[in-house]
Amino acid sequence: MSKTYLGVDIGGTAVKLGLVDDTGRVLRRAERSVSFDGYKTPILDTVQTAIRDFLGSHDVPKLEGIGVSATGQIDSRRGVVAGTCGNFPGWIGVDIKGTLEREFGLPLTVANDANCMVLGEVWVGAAKGYTDVIGVTLGTGVGGGIITGGRLLEGARGLGGELGHFRLHALDGVACTCGAIGCYERYAATTALVRGAQKMGLDAPDGRAIFEAAAAGNARTLAVLNDWISEIAQGLAGLVHIFNPQLILIGGGVSAQQELLIDPLAAQVCKSVMPAFAEGLEIKAAALQNDAGLVGAVYYFRENQ
Ligand SMILES: [Zn+2]
Repeated sequence: MSKTYLGVDIGGTAVKLGLVDDTGRVLRRAERSVSFDGYKTPILDTVQTAIRDFLGSHDVPKLEGIGVSATGQIDSRRGVVAGTCGNFPGWIGVDIKGTLEREFGLPLTVANDANCMVLGEVWVGAAKGYTDVIGVTLGTGVGGGIITGGRLLEGARGLGGELGHFRLHALDGVACTCGAIGCYERYAATTALVRGAQKMGLDAPDGRAIFEAAAAGNARTLAVLNDWISEIAQGLAGLVHIFNPQLILIGGGVSAQQELLIDPLAAQVCKSVMPAFAEGLEIKAAALQNDAGLVGAVYYFRENQ
């Protein structure tokens, strides 16, 4: 008989829930805003209510446990939020594991959302069958997860793989929300693309508008886009030399831009690394999109409970 798990993906704006079976299939989904009142209601209170409602409103089979994916720096050994660099008031120090285990009486694991994204892709997505993968999610920030030798690189506390804050321009760079200067995130996030376009005086309210202008062949937009891709590529080239991945997986809404982003990025990364590192190296878009976090959270649970 197949086993069923609850996957919970806690983001900065919403929590996603899904019943996941032991093949990684999502059987049912739900989603709820966690920012609806500007975080006056603590995020974990909203998550608890959402889980309660979800489990109460369906004929849910017996659950083996709960896998939680959460935004922020997650101490996955203890299931506690160890740090953030976004503005989620009251999130640091929240005991996700203890609180949810007490209420729902099920075994539970918690891991960082970007790490879960990569694990979800390894289980049932674009990284299936790969043992050495760097996952990078490009959005308002940059998330990362690294699989090396078939295992998630977690580090001492589970905080590992935080690619967004390695320093690409430490001496003369842009200030980061983490307090440092020149972090990768400040150059590789879609917000950096928009910032670059606005600096050039282009009418560019968001990434979508920039890709539309680039697709129409606007030369100045293409130049801005190319600069952004170069920054992403230089960071990835550094990581390729450290981890020697088979696959770099690009996530986030912009990853749908195959010809304008994925193809030129792949070409630049391969050109920027020593030849042996480029041999067999693939760069692809992530496949699971919205489900990756909760599916990966269940995968993490199954590996680590
Ligand atoms: Zn930073």
